[in-house]
Amino acid sequence: MKAVVVREPMVFDVEDVDVPDVPERGMLIKVRACGLCGSDLRTLRSGHRNVKFPWTIGHEICGEVVETGRNYSGKWKIGELLSIGPLSYCGTCEFCLSGRFDLCENQTEIGQAVPGGLAEYLAIPEKYIKLGNIQAVPDGMDPTHAAIVEPVSSCVNAQEKAGVTLGDSVVIIGSGPIGCIHISLARSRGAIKIFIIDISAERLKMAEAFNPDSYINASESDPVKRVLELTDGKGADVVITATPAPVAAVQAVQMAKRGGRIIQFGGMPKGNSTPGIDMNLVHYRGLHIIGTTTFSPVHNHSALKLIQSGQVPAEKLISHVFPLNDFKKGAALALEGKVLKGVFVP
Ligand SMILES: [Zn+2]
Ligand SMILES: [Zn+2]
Repeated sequence: MKAVVVREPMVFDVEDVDVPDVPERGMLIKVRACGLCGSDLRTLRSGHRNVKFPWTIGHEICGEVVETGRNYSGKWKIGELLSIGPLSYCGTCEFCLSGRFDLCENQTEIGQAVPGGLAEYLAIPEKYIKLGNIQAVPDGMDPTHAAIVEPVSSCVNAQEKAGVTLGDSVVIIGSGPIGCIHISLARSRGAIKIFIIDISAERLKMAEAFNPDSYINASESDPVKRVLELTDGKGADVVITATPAPVAAVQAVQMAKRGGRIIQFGGMPKGNSTPGIDMNLVHYRGLHIIGTTTFSPVHNHSALKLIQSGQVPAEKLISHVFPLNDFKKGAALALEGKVLKGVFVP
């Protein structure tokens, strides 16, 4: 079969490899669509702590069951089209037992623990079926839309944690696909003012389809000053960092309203994750800084419904659909920041 093989940072291409064996209690999936994520771009650029090259990445997957293992006992049947959330949880740690699966100590991920979905076929071990995030694709949903449930799930988790609600003003720093998903979710949850910040005019333009209320180009004006101007000097109820830039966390604290909530959504570069936040602002203004990563099955279920209902407009998020054979070309374009969300179709 064809699969993307990453040999070392920035050295990758589509290669001929063996179709994976069907796991004894798992499934073999024929991939119909696989998204390329910001974290995949990081892995392509500089590797990943959980990934040993050569490796096949890809964790935003939609595919069809083509074979099940000898001792398979899951509910999905051959021929069924599935949206495959890539996480598995142990089900036994204190976090799983208290329903906080996103904090599971033993989380594993397709595309890291097992080869990923940028391939014609994908083997799914039992644990992703038993305690994971696999859902049937609703009738009529485009496989490329069903593939991008994963990033939406993480954003749903974040906004729930921060309690984004009716009447909130929400600032989103970073105008990539995650920033655009956050715009849609904040609107659905009742935010009345949504500001998007980026340092690139080109990226800000990509957010236009999501109708934020104001655009702030941080390379042209001081974003903290602009947010204060736009909120009568008070700051925003919620600030979401959707960028790896460490300075975003510093600015988020400066532009939050008294009692405001800051969602630290973006992971920062290794070795550059202590940005120098003024903790006196946090103290005297009673701010809440909320860290968030990944999601629980409940968020994955909401995310699929939100895409189905159009509240998260997948057709606007997906700016490019490439044949898998064009991975090199598509990934290069994405690495240059010219793609909002790219999906590959084998
Ligand atoms: Zn992703
Ligand atoms: Zn656990």
